[in-house]
Amino acid sequence: MKGSRKLYVKSFGCQMNVYDSQRMADTLAPNGYVETATPEDADLVILNTCHIREKAAEKVYSEIGRVRRLKEAAAAHGLRVLIAVVGCVAQAEGAEIVRRAPAVDLVVGSQNYHRLPELLARAERDGKAVDTEFPVDDKFEHLVAPSAAATRARGVTAFVTVQEGCDKFCTFCVVPYTRGAESSRPVGKIRAEVERLADAGVREVTLIGQNVNAYHGEGPHGRPWSLAQLLGLLAELPGIERLRYTTSHPRDMDTDLIAAHRDLPQLMPQLHLPVQSGSDRILAAMNRRHTRADYIDVVTRLREARPDLALTSDFIVGFPGETEDDFTATLDLVDEIGYSGAFSFKYSPRPGTPGADMDDQIDEATKSDRLHRLQAAIDRSQAVFNRRCLGRKFAVLFERTGRYDGQLVGRSPYLQPVQVAAPTALIGKIAAVTVTEVASNSLFGTLAQEPALAGAGA
Ligand code: SF4
Repeated sequence: MKGSRKLYVKSFGCQMNVYDSQRMADTLAPNGYVETATPEDADLVILNTCHIREKAAEKVYSEIGRVRRLKEAAAAHGLRVLIAVVGCVAQAEGAEIVRRAPAVDLVVGSQNYHRLPELLARAERDGKAVDTEFPVDDKFEHLVAPSAAATRARGVTAFVTVQEGCDKFCTFCVVPYTRGAESSRPVGKIRAEVERLADAGVREVTLIGQNVNAYHGEGPHGRPWSLAQLLGLLAELPGIERLRYTTSHPRDMDTDLIAAHRDLPQLMPQLHLPVQSGSDRILAAMNRRHTRADYIDVVTRLREARPDLALTSDFIVGFPGETEDDFTATLDLVDEIGYSGAFSFKYSPRPGTPGADMDDQIDEATKSDRLHRLQAAIDRSQAVFNRRCLGRKFAVLFERTGRYDGQLVGRSPYLQPVQVAAPTALIGKIAAVTVTEVASNSLFGTLAQEPALAGAGA
């Protein structure tokens, strides 16, 4: 190992970026890079960017400005700090970043970060390195596995990327352009990664992908496996007590995957299933490839398989052409489904996507008003779900200490944070908790007298 240098990684956006950031740190560890919690003492600052949200690129440029000042201060003391912009904004705007931000030393697309050590060497030597091509080789083949100690330090839950990219081309979304076509990791590689995590003490694994239920990775005999098959295999691995997956598309919820919610006790009764709108007209304009009725049908079949399933969703309000009637259909859907929570956003055009060129863009005031009303409906739905938890007994996986002495924070099967007075020896363990109080975003409870429950269910 080379002499120790400090690495600061700032993640923007979703869980996939958090996972990617960890893998970047793992990939650079053999080159002597040790993670630090603040950019001030870093030799290398990586901004792992996300292109989904509004003004994503502007946020990155303002962050670059902040880090540039640190770089200049270090240079005044004869020290060299490197700045890398990685991820989806780098993928989409690589040339523009080089032009607008000369302080940036490396620009690396979302599919190329396995090449960070070699690109870093090039930037140190030549002053600049840029790689935003979609590579023919699979980055996962080249990534370095973290040490057991590094895995343990990250806690008892972990994300594992099983799928990347998207072929759906919703008209508001940049993912098919920044992450490329759908691709899935082979079953054997995923199994090995999950076994390694279990050996290091991880008890809950969330399989992630932009379109995770379109998973079709190579199985043991060379044939593609579905997500349901993959979940079935992982459920049998010793030490893995809980499984989740996200993010799913309604069209790809096939019969086997729905049945897995009935048959696998390790598969937690919670699912993030974005619908985006309750109006068929808007769903068609969004190119979602499902109708409101299709979505309700999938939810009905899921709830037949697992009656206590908690559902969350994503919504966009103010998509071009959305009328008050369309929006009312969305509000009605929230009431009809009954969500345990949801993310909601005002539509904002992404350059290069079809939605950006559509007529009938909605004015800001209308979008804000609709967002406000939608969020109120989601809050009501979440409050109903949480209230139903009061007095019930759940299996809680304890993850960390809480804000107060003697308090632990864990997760219910439905992914709600649960705060309980409990000994730290319970971290990493599942114990029965009776819910005594509910707040808008978390539950409070007491350890139940009964012995610990198994991994699943309420
Ligand atoms: S399915 Fe999801 S990732 Fe794919 S284009 Fe639509 S919103 Fe984007």
